[in-house]
Amino acid sequence: MGWLDESQFRTAPMADLDAVLRFHDPAYVDALRRAEETQSVSDADRERFRIGAEGNPVYAEIYRRPMTSAGGVMLACRLALEGGIVHCPGGGTHHGRPARASGFCYLNDPVLGLLTWLEAGLDNIVYLDIDAHHGDGVQDAFHDDDRVLTISIHEAGRWPFTGKVEDRAGGAARNLPVPAGFNDSEMRWLMEQAVLPLIHERRPQAIFLQCGADSLEEDPLAKLSLSNNAYFAAAAAVMDLAPRLVVTGGGGYNPYTVGRCWAGVWAVLNGITIPDRTTPAAEAILRGLVYNRAAGRNPPVHWFTTIRDEPRDGVVRDDVKRVASLTFPERLEA
Ligand SMILES: [Zn+2]
Repeated sequence: MGWLDESQFRTAPMADLDAVLRFHDPAYVDALRRAEETQSVSDADRERFRIGAEGNPVYAEIYRRPMTSAGGVMLACRLALEGGIVHCPGGGTHHGRPARASGFCYLNDPVLGLLTWLEAGLDNIVYLDIDAHHGDGVQDAFHDDDRVLTISIHEAGRWPFTGKVEDRAGGAARNLPVPAGFNDSEMRWLMEQAVLPLIHERRPQAIFLQCGADSLEEDPLAKLSLSNNAYFAAAAAVMDLAPRLVVTGGGGYNPYTVGRCWAGVWAVLNGITIPDRTTPAAEAILRGLVYNRAAGRNPPVHWFTTIRDEPRDGVVRDDVKRVASLTFPERLEA
């Protein structure tokens, strides 16, 4: 789209092992390295670390890829320390556990980025997660830690089945589970009635926005119905709420809608107006993508020719209003 001045771009480095070991177990990280080297996993490692099990396949870059997104997110947090906004779309692996792979997350790069901020002396941080899945790994890492408030909007009743509205992680979390079909109007309601007031009240020194793109209507793994306008609005809304902002990616399993969403988020963060039509270069990239699901056989033309979706507004259902009000029970009591 011609939106990236090379001077704005930094290549993500592999993470320092020591920095990763602040959160992750050395034996687990070593098992990831071994899995990449041998492209296989022993029964013992599979059992103990869930590598090569469930949604955590062994793949060619199973060590270097997570180490690079961790390095990128930690660099993003260091760069943002001086103030400003850094976008690291390769990061956002919010399910990773200290000694276990989970939900295609091997390392937890948001946790490692947040630790970078805490070690630099920040003590009032908001982590906002709009991926369709609950940000369980991040919430659990900062359970009871009043320096990091984790807020997660996610589909109710979906894997990993945590993040109920009553679950506050000892005061350090707010969870906003939403029903299937969650639309742009409902997202606006939740942001305005619950999330933004919560952040306002807190006056954080830094915000970490996990922008997993699987809450989009066309994503095959979840049943939420957002258009990418909801993502653009969320990014725009948090930009002025703290002097430091890091935005990552996360889930997202339709390559067309992921690419359009995160490109548009970059535009929003840079104050770029998104034109009605993609440039020929952007269209060529989108047309070159491969998507091995039914919808990929005959993609609608707007997946190639636009960045911005049509809005998906609708009725704000009682389930959503209830979640917003339960996020502030202290107000209801007052
Ligand atoms: Zn997800």
